[in-house]
Amino acid sequence: MKYQRPKGTTDIIPGETEKWQSIEKKAREIFKRYRYQEIRTPIFENFEVFSRTSGETSDIVTKEMYDFFDKGERHITLRPEGTAGVVRAYVENKLYGPEIQKPFKTFYMGPMFRYERPQAGRLREFHQIGVEAFGVDNPALDVEVMAMAVELLHGFGLKNLKLALNTLGDDESRSRYRKALVDYLEPRAEQLSAESKERLHKNPLRVLDSKEKEDQEIVANAPQILDYLTEEAAVHFETVKNLLEALGISYEIDTNMVRGLDYYNHTIFEIMSDSKAFGGKWTTVCAGGRYNGLVEQLGGPETPGIGFGLGVERLLLVLEAEGIRLPLDNELAVYVVGIGAVTNAETLKLVQSLRNAGFSSERDYLERKPKGQFKSASRLGAQFTLTLGEEELTQGKVNLKEMTSGKEIKVALEDVYTDFEKLIAKLRA
Ligand code: ATP
Ligand code: MG
Repeated sequence: MKYQRPKGTTDIIPGETEKWQSIEKKAREIFKRYRYQEIRTPIFENFEVFSRTSGETSDIVTKEMYDFFDKGERHITLRPEGTAGVVRAYVENKLYGPEIQKPFKTFYMGPMFRYERPQAGRLREFHQIGVEAFGVDNPALDVEVMAMAVELLHGFGLKNLKLALNTLGDDESRSRYRKALVDYLEPRAEQLSAESKERLHKNPLRVLDSKEKEDQEIVANAPQILDYLTEEAAVHFETVKNLLEALGISYEIDTNMVRGLDYYNHTIFEIMSDSKAFGGKWTTVCAGGRYNGLVEQLGGPETPGIGFGLGVERLLLVLEAEGIRLPLDNELAVYVVGIGAVTNAETLKLVQSLRNAGFSSERDYLERKPKGQFKSASRLGAQFTLTLGEEELTQGKVNLKEMTSGKEIKVALEDVYTDFEKLIAKLRA
């Protein structure tokens, strides 16, 4: 019997985890500066948290949910996305209370689950880093959230990014537009793809982002949401654009962009990369928008909200394809080369002492010859080696070498235990 991980999942193993940590570290750094604090909500939620919010006709609800009944007959779902759970927690913990600063700004990172057909950048368990900000309508917040997303992706070293921007307006804008769109699409229904034909009445806006060629031709001449915005929605969108310009952030309006989740309104955006990772087609790495009705939908007071989610696996694929190396936090300060079984105890004491003093340290455990040990030291990227043979041991000495410069000196063993820092200075002097 062979055990294999479930289809669409991955093991993130050492060598890879350092990249994840690097990404998470960068994200935490940026979130801290923008004053977003971490929230950790359950990996599973009651089914209704997602079924009520994502939209009955959304892919997530119709096809992709991992849901089951637990032993107490509760309908449970492994979270397919981050926002609904955070909104549920926001309401349940009364984070809209008068004593809490507005906007309430929070971020999360963690696994999400969708029953999809696995392929590159599409998994059944994947990870998102996301932010949510509640309680403020000011378009400055929309722009702050987008600026933060752009900074984050630039921070990872990505170039050639596109910020695609659209608005879905408010409820009134959307229902006016929906009607105009259906009026336009209905007489052309026969030319639409099967899937779009089905969406035509259930969720006509989704026809706009169909990837089918026959749909795209029809969509090209469809009415545009921008012509159906209420005064208020139009002003909000204008302000968002002006503020983006004020910050020097370039964007492209894409009136056919809609999001896969139904809870969005007003500003929606995607940050895309033209990386070779996905055949040079623009690929969305990060997506988000406003969801001003969502808090109410989950039983809270009327509260605006906005956020984004970033797919970590997709980000890693793009970074890989672009040849971008993340700064990894796995450096080795000292490799202690102990020669011969007699040095075993002293070698152990040395690495332990160095570790206690704050230096990451490694040694040989296999009684290998010095050559093999030096090879390890250099493969592990050790900054320094300390070499100790039988002779050194009796003399109470050890050889300190800096790997990059090749400089070396003999030092007293004792000094390694008391002040290794000082020995480094001496070597470099
Ligand atoms: P797509 O159109 O690719 O299915 P989506 O609209 O379903 O994406 P969102 O719900 O907006 O995606 O999720 C935000 C981000 O999470 C995506 O841009 C992507 O980077 C990532 N993502 C979504 N689904 C998956 C998945 N199954 N595997 C890996 N990453 C994913
Ligand atoms: Mg999807």
